[in-house]
Amino acid sequence: MRPRTRIRDCRDVVGLLTEYLEGGLAPGAVTTLERHLAGCSGCGEYLVSLKKTRDAIRRLASHQVPDDCRRTLRALLDAARRGGGRGKRAAAAKKPARRRRVTR
Ligand SMILES: [Zn+2]
Repeated sequence: MRPRTRIRDCRDVVGLLTEYLEGGLAPGAVTTLERHLAGCSGCGEYLVSLKKTRDAIRRLASHQVPDDCRRTLRALLDAARRGGGRGKRAAAAKKPARRRRVTR
């Protein structure tokens, strides 16, 4: 729990929703957040999708995920977090050069 939580706009709300779902927010922050959620459909929808994701993960966690599967997922997530589509662009840039035709 943090001593002071400022909630000014949707970005603040989105940043706090995970903590909110886990019950880690101070009561004052919860009130402000819920007031925002009541009047903001975008954040409301985000909260719903976050809940769905959390539930899906919980359901998954109750089953055993094989180690190799877990490693693959983690690697993919790490790559996505780090790369942000850099690999895709590099591949696209490579293509035309290889396809260049020799003209006479
Ligand atoms: Zn909002």
